[in-house]
Amino acid sequence: MKKLICILLISNLILCACSKKNETVHGFAMDTYISITVSKKDVPAAKSAIKKCRDYEKIFSRTDKKSELWKVNHEGKTPSGELLDVINFSLSVSEKSDGAFDITVAPLSTLWNVKERTYPPSAEEIANALKNVGYKRLDTQSFSLNGTTLDLGAIAKGYTADKIFEDFKAQGIKKAIIDLGGNIYVIGEYTVGIRSPFKTDEAYCTITLKDKSAVTSGAYQRYFDYEGKRYHHIIDPKTGYPSEGDIASVTVISPSSKTADALSTAIFVKGTDALSLCSLYDDTGALIIMNDGEIKTTEGFDEKYNLKK
Ligand code: AMP
Ligand code: MG
Repeated sequence: MKKLICILLISNLILCACSKKNETVHGFAMDTYISITVSKKDVPAAKSAIKKCRDYEKIFSRTDKKSELWKVNHEGKTPSGELLDVINFSLSVSEKSDGAFDITVAPLSTLWNVKERTYPPSAEEIANALKNVGYKRLDTQSFSLNGTTLDLGAIAKGYTADKIFEDFKAQGIKKAIIDLGGNIYVIGEYTVGIRSPFKTDEAYCTITLKDKSAVTSGAYQRYFDYEGKRYHHIIDPKTGYPSEGDIASVTVISPSSKTADALSTAIFVKGTDALSLCSLYDDTGALIIMNDGEIKTTEGFDEKYNLKK
């Protein structure tokens, strides 16, 4: 397969200058559009990958009453296997990020429900939901939620992308773009565009990735506007409100998509100082686009990923 030069508008559909030898398989799962670009011979693998996303949705969905997570949250089920692995990994990121990343944010995600809401909840409602939030409540030894519920929306797609990547590698696939709603994993080398937080469907800058995941968290992804103010989907677990700061988007690059997914959310909440979190993980870096348009990156990022503004 010829080297593809693609613009991946992260958190948007891929605009891909694909060669005739490639095909993109599309699907919808995990509340997001999925597209997987592979060479034609690997189309069956891409179709299986989309099925895999649906299978993981049945484990990780917070809103599907048949999911394993629903049973943990509402029916007293003790999580095991991959669900428990994701919960434990999430807790480790909560500790490292001092609670900026926190899967016990579910009472607040449910309350804010930015997909359907048109006006913010009351301060009293937020204070009540906040009482049940805090990763330290979770006891994974005897497994007890201690009044909270879990939301894996900030990590499930990353975990799934890792699993698809592993499957593809095991099948000897050498070129692929796995895009789970902007949660990207590339096999092979690709130049990708990071979506502008300021203009729809425009790339703000480009980076070159090889066998890496890129995940973006941004205030422009899911939100509603009310009386001139934007309320987005990333919540500061300390305040109970959508996190406020001077960051427009955070993109984390890592060979572990679940790490990139969790850290992009954590850094978005915690702010630019939290770029240092990347150094705690193997081969992981980040790029922040500030509200005023400035770009901030981790040390060595610009050369390593051939950043072009
Ligand atoms: P992401 O787009 O990966 O940054 O994840 C955002 C999604 O994760 C939201 O839609 C919520 O479901 C959930 N979420 C919101 N705030 C947080 C947080 N501070 N920590 C963990 N998950 C969160
Ligand atoms: Mg995330």
